[in-house]
Amino acid sequence: MTGGSRGIGRGIALRLAADGALVAVHYGSSEAAARETVETIRSSGGQALAIRAELGVVGDAAALYAAFDAGMGEFGVPPEFDILVNNAGVSGSGRITEVTEEVFDRLVAVNVRAPLFLVQHGLKRLRDGGRIINISSAATRRAFPESIGYAMTKGAVDTLTLALARQLGERGITVNAVAPGFVETDMNARRRQTPEAAAALAAYSVFNRIGRPDDIADVVAFLASDDSRWITGQYVDATGGTIL
Ligand code: NDP
Repeated sequence: MTGGSRGIGRGIALRLAADGALVAVHYGSSEAAARETVETIRSSGGQALAIRAELGVVGDAAALYAAFDAGMGEFGVPPEFDILVNNAGVSGSGRITEVTEEVFDRLVAVNVRAPLFLVQHGLKRLRDGGRIINISSAATRRAFPESIGYAMTKGAVDTLTLALARQLGERGITVNAVAPGFVETDMNARRRQTPEAAAALAAYSVFNRIGRPDDIADVVAFLASDDSRWITGQYVDATGGTIL
């Protein structure tokens, strides 16, 4: 799974490992955090390895799988998997009047191009009957002009999900998107700096709280399980009612 060092991805890694998966915890620059995720899993009796690859650069998918193949080799297992979670992402384009071409290109490279080619390069390693879970956002169903470029990249993630679901059905692979609303992670730490600002984010949800990584991880775990076998191509709202 991508972006397992911090935030939502860390929560997903812990949950999938608790469910019995051997988790390849991918990270970009947060090596210590990735190691912490892996150690937390191992100390609970689970299995995990850390793999590093910078996403958003040319050759990123090939580099990630080179690290994956090597890591699995050290575990003594074939370089194959059942579940791909495209979670790593960056935010912060600003409004239409603020977004720059450089920032937009970076958002597309990390949030859209990387997942596309991670799937392309991963298909021969992904077993039939497997799962692809892409992390989308409430921002594709509720207007989010505060970060227009970011919202657009998540729209592309939904489109990727739909097309892949159609194509990969013949292999019994399901492809779904999970859409968080605001979740308490580094991504929006600056938006929670004062109690008033945190309360405003909490108010997006009908439950009047900011989401936690495990709120999202539990939904991902369902989609990764056999219980979800008849669900594919879906946008699964995990926003705490943010878009109601
Ligand atoms: P965080 O910023 O907390 O963590 C981002 C993760 O992605 C880290 O593990 C980071 O790894 C990895 N990552 C980011 N950029 C790169 C890169 N260029 N190369 C490699 N790895 C990278 O984010 P969240 O946990 O909040 O977000 C996870 C996903 O959820 C994202 O797709 C985000 O868009 C989505 N989301 C988040 C919401 C929220 O409110 N938090 C709301 C809706 C959607 P490292 O630090 O090691 O580089």
